[in-house]
Amino acid sequence: LPPFNIRINNQRLIFIYLILFILLTTIVLISFVSGFIFTLPIIRRLALIYNKIENFNLDNPTILINDNKNDEIATVAKVFDKMAKRIQEDYKDKIRFYKEKQELIKNISHDFRTPLTSILGYAISLEEGFYKKDEEKKFYNIIRKKAEYMSKLFDELMELSRLDSNEIILNKNKFDISELLREIIIEYLPQLEEKNFTIETEIIETLIFCGDKDRLARAIRNLIDNVIKHCKDGKYIGISLEQNNINKIIIKIKDRGNGINEEQKNIIFDKFYRSAKSKGMGLGLSITKEIIEKHSGSIKVEDNAPSGSIFVINLNNNC
Ligand code: ADP
Repeated sequence: LPPFNIRINNQRLIFIYLILFILLTTIVLISFVSGFIFTLPIIRRLALIYNKIENFNLDNPTILINDNKNDEIATVAKVFDKMAKRIQEDYKDKIRFYKEKQELIKNISHDFRTPLTSILGYAISLEEGFYKKDEEKKFYNIIRKKAEYMSKLFDELMELSRLDSNEIILNKNKFDISELLREIIIEYLPQLEEKNFTIETEIIETLIFCGDKDRLARAIRNLIDNVIKHCKDGKYIGISLEQNNINKIIIKIKDRGNGINEEQKNIIFDKFYRSAKSKGMGLGLSITKEIIEKHSGSIKVEDNAPSGSIFVINLNNNC
């Protein structure tokens, strides 16, 4: 006989089994439900990440996950957001670059085609003897002017493309920028006087600057040309050069023309932007801006109350 004689009848045994079964089932159920409740938010967050990766679309403004929690999943989400932002910015840059290129090609084609069509038209008419002998000279002259315009346009575009490139194209040397400004003013004096401009200058005695003299001269000439071309009223030009104590050089070209409105201020430095009245190519200010920026400087336009504009160039003197 066994040492203990436990006598359990069948009914009791079934009851114990049942209790054990219910207990086990409850434990399994509770752990399953609590596990589910605990992992559900994690599953949801992972599903969101999966969803964002699966439907990654650069045009979609809601590309980011924006998980603000502080755990491993949030770290993955943040890395994803960082990458997505960078790709989206690159993509936007590419689109903008593509649109600008298209616009530029459209403008260049238009600006070359218009004079070319005239040249072709006049050349054919002259060849066919359409004009009287004494008239011919006038039309040869028009052809020459249009060809000169095309040649200048070509040069300006080549210069812009050189300035646009990442190559170092500046021919930097030390020179007296005060002297350069005075030379430019002297060069313009006959033209300004003939057009009855009042000229005011405020240029410090001497200032040695390190830069590309010819290109800076070109940038300043473009601004003076603009005053002559676009400020037919309020015939005034003010040119100043100062250096403040932190080695910053400030050049100002002031006029008392009709001024530049707020909307125009954002676009006047764009390639090919010109007002409807302008007979220019719309490249002068973009070339000036590129030259100044290549010297690590900046250019902006301000109002010159009560009327007119002030183009302000800021340069750092590294000499
Ligand atoms: P362009 O002179 O060949 O038209 P720019 O790039 O030099 O081209 O200038 C762009 C436009 O900015 C001009 O067409 C003109 O409308 C405006 N602008 C430039 N300078 C002045 C100024 N000093 N006063 C008024 N408008 C100006």
